[in-house]
Amino acid sequence: MNAYLNLETWNYYELFISYGLAPIALCILLYHWTKLATARVPMKRYDLINRHEINNLWYASLFLLFAVGVYVNTIVTEGEAIWLAVRVFVTLMMGLIVGVIISNLLKFYYPFYVEKRLKKLRYQPRISPKSGKPMKLLSEDEEDVYLDEGMQAEENVFSVDYDVWIDEETGYTKIEKYAGHLIALQCPECNYQTLKVVKEEILESPTETEEGELMKFYKCDYCGYKERKAFRIARLRQPKGEESSAI
Ligand SMILES: [Zn+2]
Repeated sequence: MNAYLNLETWNYYELFISYGLAPIALCILLYHWTKLATARVPMKRYDLINRHEINNLWYASLFLLFAVGVYVNTIVTEGEAIWLAVRVFVTLMMGLIVGVIISNLLKFYYPFYVEKRLKKLRYQPRISPKSGKPMKLLSEDEEDVYLDEGMQAEENVFSVDYDVWIDEETGYTKIEKYAGHLIALQCPECNYQTLKVVKEEILESPTETEEGELMKFYKCDYCGYKERKAFRIARLRQPKGEESSAI
């Protein structure tokens, strides 16, 4: 009888915990979506999605999974201690299986959807605050003129990608910086969106007269596929003033 009573109390607390955990999951999702909805600059939204979306979804899933697990346990009111142990064990196992499934979905399938949205955000025309018209995105070759030497070096070396937008009417430019190591590419082996730069090496430093060479090492998070690609590093520009003396 006593054990049964204890179980009743248990169930009561479990219900309590379950009702407490579910709103936390909702709060995480709400927090993420509110931040996304209120971030007006595309670049900010890009960053939020790129850095936090999958993590936030994972945390929300965990809380929800716990809430559901605890809740399911309150439905059964068998009094025997042995059943209590069994149901806790079964719940844990089921939770583990569902957890692994969710984690895999988030890691390997969800990134396709994320990448699609990121691309849209990154390449949607920026509106010039000067003329109110859409700006033009410069190509890699064109943009070098607008990046200072440090930025150029950074772009070549530290896996940073700069986008330069220009308002052709007024000449107003806007430079946006993207963390290259966070950009996932599609793996040619398994086709998942999980190929990332893991290491970079400068084979040859650029000088004012010669281009340099950079090797990027990629690894796939999913299948372990590895590849490397050589990139050219733009020549260093001569300091201002020296150009005229060279003539
Ligand atoms: Zn792969």
